[in-house]
Amino acid sequence: MSGNLPRIDGERLWRSLMEMAEIGPTANGGSGRVALTDLDRQGRDRFRGWCIDAGLDLRVDRCGDMIARRPGRNADAPIVVTGSHLDTQPLGGRFDGVYGVLAGLEVIRTLNDHGIETEAGLELVNWTDEEGVRFGGGCLASAAFAGRYTVEEVLARRDPDGLSFGDELQRIGYAGDAPCGGYPVAAYFEAHIEQGPVLETEGCQVGVVLGGQGQFNFMVTVRGEEGHAGTLPMTQRRDAFVGAARMAVALSELPGEVEPPPVITTGFVRVSPNSRNTVPGTTTFSINCRHPEAATLAELERRIRDLVAGIAETAVLDVAMEKTSEAPPVTFDGGCAAAVRDAAAALGIAHRDMVSGASHDAFNLARVVPTAMIFVPCERGISHNEAENAKPEDLAAGCDVLLRAMLSRAGVA
Ligand SMILES: [Zn+2]
Repeated sequence: MSGNLPRIDGERLWRSLMEMAEIGPTANGGSGRVALTDLDRQGRDRFRGWCIDAGLDLRVDRCGDMIARRPGRNADAPIVVTGSHLDTQPLGGRFDGVYGVLAGLEVIRTLNDHGIETEAGLELVNWTDEEGVRFGGGCLASAAFAGRYTVEEVLARRDPDGLSFGDELQRIGYAGDAPCGGYPVAAYFEAHIEQGPVLETEGCQVGVVLGGQGQFNFMVTVRGEEGHAGTLPMTQRRDAFVGAARMAVALSELPGEVEPPPVITTGFVRVSPNSRNTVPGTTTFSINCRHPEAATLAELERRIRDLVAGIAETAVLDVAMEKTSEAPPVTFDGGCAAAVRDAAAALGIAHRDMVSGASHDAFNLARVVPTAMIFVPCERGISHNEAENAKPEDLAAGCDVLLRAMLSRAGVA
């Protein structure tokens, strides 16, 4: 069957990617559409227009996920879903997430062009707030879809300015009323740039993703005492920022003591009162820790708690650690991964099996739905960076694989 399937239009896919990148362009050629901002709304609006043009039935669920459905011949057959996210890091790239959404759209446009009906219906999803810039953790809406959080828990989340997820969703006009999840899905496929250097280094166009690392996130608040920068002797200070900085440095050195090493990042810091003539009284910072093994993650959490508490005690600072989210390592569905591998092989595309270093909405979906991911190379593995880049031919190859993998599950008459 796959020999007769059409190829996707790589130029149209590229054009759509570049048109989405017109919304929230950054100074150095990247994209900045942080979730639930006005730019996120503009990106969503553009995507909505494309879905309507493609004849899709669009609904928005309670977490703001945009779900576009192409009906199948058999309304009772569990649907086949693809998707990713249109939100980005503040200084993000043009492909992270956006590729998976627009590759799904290109699959549907191709099926429309060739009048191909599927037995099961297809759905294309733009998951809300994959990146976790404002509300902590990331992949919150797909986590609700998979039942890891309730919708209410997601909507109640607040950003560092105290604005809630639910209110911001209302503000941008994407607080839908469709239920989040809870219906039968036959398979979920997500195409994504690798965000690492393996495929490019090995000359492969497609990665068959078998699973991914687990992780946990903490928000740490260090409290000392504010004082005058000119009069308070160094020996009498309880400087919350200096304490937090010591913790961040110690955390960055911890991976060297573990095998295989985890990755640990402090990417968010807020200093209060953030005034140059005042010794900082409070500093809040994030900890993200990732590793492929559950037992090692548990050990790392214990060591990180001890490390933070030890530094706070030595520096006479108070510290509070709030675990904002955690997710175990993930193993994808063998059958779905095989569908991706078979599609790449049928197309003569160089491919390899791999584990994802980054986490994705697919990690949540995998808890409740047979799931696999398709990776394509990105230049020098650079991502979460304005310089993120990918080759049109690689993006097209991954999209062709997506089309075949989806059809293998949806069925073509
Ligand atoms: Zn992504």
